[in-house]
Amino acid sequence: MTLSRVTLKPGRDKSLRQRHPWVYSGAILRVEGAPLAGDTVALHAADGTFLASAAWSPASSIRARVWSFDPSAVIDEGFLAARIRAAVQAREGLLDAQHTGCRLVHGESDRLPGFIADRYGDVGVVQLLTAGAEAWGDALIAALRDASGCGTVYERSDADVRALEGLGTRAGLVCGALPVPLTLVEGGLRYRVDAAHGQKTGFFLDQRDNRARVRSLSRGRDVLDCFCYSGGFTVSALAGGARSVLAVDSSGEALSLGRANVADNGFDAARAEWRDADVFAELRRLRDARAAFDLVVLDPPKFAPTAQHADKAARAYKDINLLGLKLLRPGGLLATFSCSGGVSADLFQKIVAGAALDAGVDAAIVGRFGASADHPVALAFPEGEYLKGLLLRKA
Ligand code: SAH
Repeated sequence: MTLSRVTLKPGRDKSLRQRHPWVYSGAILRVEGAPLAGDTVALHAADGTFLASAAWSPASSIRARVWSFDPSAVIDEGFLAARIRAAVQAREGLLDAQHTGCRLVHGESDRLPGFIADRYGDVGVVQLLTAGAEAWGDALIAALRDASGCGTVYERSDADVRALEGLGTRAGLVCGALPVPLTLVEGGLRYRVDAAHGQKTGFFLDQRDNRARVRSLSRGRDVLDCFCYSGGFTVSALAGGARSVLAVDSSGEALSLGRANVADNGFDAARAEWRDADVFAELRRLRDARAAFDLVVLDPPKFAPTAQHADKAARAYKDINLLGLKLLRPGGLLATFSCSGGVSADLFQKIVAGAALDAGVDAAIVGRFGASADHPVALAFPEGEYLKGLLLRKA
């Protein structure tokens, strides 16, 4: 079968030669053939040199995503299964009795653009986010079942980004049955995962190491957990000996899961208070009430999906960090995160520094956070470094 041939404009082959996996529509000179969404195309430089095999995505401004830079590679079930096996094997050392979940496949950084798979015990939760992943969905999921041994697979292809690829949403059970409740053990702590209705695939596995860090810093502290979702940081802080935790989120379902997670781990419910509120408003209420904490966690949703949203996002980050710093007692700690791909670690640090300045607070960086090892960042794909965070100590 001959592949459609896509030729790039002169000088627009540089990023592919540096093994970056995306081709923007504006870089394309010519398309020979009539590739459909998800078809594999051959990418060539203007001088005719073969560059890569890629998945074609006619609706997206990211018009092609690379499967392989190897001219001899044939993109088929066997090729994809080998990639999946490599990704799953790379995570084997992460799982034990104390840790039953991890990300198994992390899209571009596992050389499988648009395919995400998380493991919660025997359950795999997958997302097909691009035209290429969609076209090969059955093969990818079959390979994941083989490589991981997951008896149950649930699909959550209902993320907003699919619209950019011209894809609708789909979610549901692929095989097996979801346990009720579905439980993840992390650091020996039990968490309920709402794979069917929760955020992303049901849990934020990327924060695993950062939850452990917060746990280690919590003894005797009054903790404020903002954007708490199902209480990942709250339960960790309680496990670490926090005196109290105030957990705030605007999702009632998330807070219910959080309450259940505190109970399932045998902690006294009185140590945690759950507040259904908008964090921006709640931080102001707490400031006006002269509340004070020893540890504040700020883990907001993605304010800037791309660099175009960075300005508005910067204002939002500055606002919550300014208030978070004000609410800290002297010597208190702020664990502050951004999962916005459009805000770099550098920019985030500048925003937080601006917040401290405006708050009239002196603070020092005493730690830096990133995503856990099962969320790798391919060196050629710096966009993969979406999660960043700072640990600050207030003077
Ligand atoms: N810290 C969590 C993950 C946070 S995800 C963990 O470790 O698991 C972001 C959360 O922010 C979601 O639960 C969402 O419901 C909540 N959220 C988004 N906007 C909000 C707002 N303005 N006020 C309060 N919560 C908000």
